[in-house]
Amino acid sequence: MVDYKIVKEIKDNAIKDKVPIINDDSISYINKYIKDNNIKTVLEIGTAIGYSAIMMSIVNPDIKIVSIERDQDRYMQALKNVKKLDLDKKIELIYNDALNMYLDEKFDLIFIDAAKSQSINFFEKYENNLNDKGTIITDNIEFHGLVKEDPSNIDSRDLRGLVIKIQNYIEFLKENKNYDTEFLSIGDGLSVSVKKWKER
Ligand code: SAH
Ligand code: MG
Repeated sequence: MVDYKIVKEIKDNAIKDKVPIINDDSISYINKYIKDNNIKTVLEIGTAIGYSAIMMSIVNPDIKIVSIERDQDRYMQALKNVKKLDLDKKIELIYNDALNMYLDEKFDLIFIDAAKSQSINFFEKYENNLNDKGTIITDNIEFHGLVKEDPSNIDSRDLRGLVIKIQNYIEFLKENKNYDTEFLSIGDGLSVSVKKWKER
């Protein structure tokens, strides 16, 4: 049994330290998706301190999660948190830049929750690691409501650039004929892209 008091502590500490962990409604949606679709393997890009990986790991007794984080402090904290909950058999943490490494395993679900300007790159790199009929879920697709704004109304140049990149990602998903993508206004916005099955 997972000690929910520890999970709550991890969450509270993340909020206190301003680590951008997943929204409650978003993780509820993902966990229901994992259950309903009998997902057994997950690749997460962007571990932060391990909160979303821990939450996903709790939902299925035999789920296996691989999660990648490039920030050393966060990776170390995630390791500690996963160990504290005795989840190190279910969650494998990798300390690396996801765009600079290679995995050959395949997964039922890929959860993209890392640098928001790089989502197309993560998608294109890791779709090779997706099983047939697998799903790619991306978080923060609305980015605090800014993604539906006209970018010319956003004063900060960096923020404007980021919003345009997320808008481009949305276009990329809409045009991608190999996936059916749904955009959900849950939490900070989720996209759910289901790979179409192709006869070979
Ligand atoms: N999934 C976490 C939150 C992740 S926050 C949760 O909901 O609990 C996003 C994280 O992605 C940050 O910690 C950041 O360091 C990491 N990140 C950004 N770009 C990355 C990359 N290219 N490779 C690996 N990690 C990355
Ligand atoms: Mg997120």
